Amino acid sequence: MEKTLIYEGKAKKIFKISGNEKEYLQEFKDDATAFNGVKKDQIKNKGKVNNQITSVIFDLLNNSGIKTHFIKKVSENSMIVSIVDIIKVEVVCRNIAAGSLVKKFAFKEGETLKNPLVEFYYKSDELGDPLFSEDHILLLELATSDEMKHIRNETLKINEILKTFFLSKGLKLVDFKLEFGRDLNGEIILADEISPDTCRLWDKVSNKKMDKDRFRFDLGEVEESYDEVMRRVTN
Ligand code: UDP
Repeated sequence: MEKTLIYEGKAKKIFKISGNEKEYLQEFKDDATAFNGVKKDQIKNKGKVNNQITSVIFDLLNNSGIKTHFIKKVSENSMIVSIVDIIKVEVVCRNIAAGSLVKKFAFKEGETLKNPLVEFYYKSDELGDPLFSEDHILLLELATSDEMKHIRNETLKINEILKTFFLSKGLKLVDFKLEFGRDLNGEIILADEISPDTCRLWDKVSNKKMDKDRFRFDLGEVEESYDEVMRRVTN
């Protein structure tokens, strides 16, 4: 397969596939960053693990009536995806208080929220991904009001599917981040990845953190936790 790099982010590379006008190759890297790129390192096997986990989860979502960009896993660290134009809104959905919710709004870490909380962050490295509202999104013309309604509904549906799925694997889905894009027909579909890089996952019994927080806060056993999530998700 002849491929040309067209985009490189912090955790993934996107390649154009020669002769294929509908699909891209999405490759997962071992590179890990936190705090808007201030902390940088590599997590051994992360590319392979996140590709595997994302493939299983996107397959589950595709089969549950959620449209995603995932087509198929083609190697240890890469997958074929539909071409989309990413909407510059990071959608965060939370079930249990952690991270910036605790820091900014004085929720207690581990507190179960009365209902899922959906938040929007402006996807902009220069601006440090600020929290913003739907009104900002409309003013910046990042998406229309109907599109935002759809994104919010899809996010809540995805949350229910993922919560049930992870719980069956002995994991609590604390929070996660989604990215949506417009496909070649202009339809909004789920894109990017769903992995321990983009979700907070706590062991159901011990509440042990099994996600990128182990890297962010130097908690140790980073590779082991990513491996354990992969083992549980694929079993
Ligand atoms: N998240 C992400 N990418 C980002 C910011 C957040 O994947 O650029 C995920 C993060 O892993 C967590 C959720 O979104 O599962 C909520 O993150 P939070 O706002 O608490 O920020 P953080 O504490 O991660 O900086």
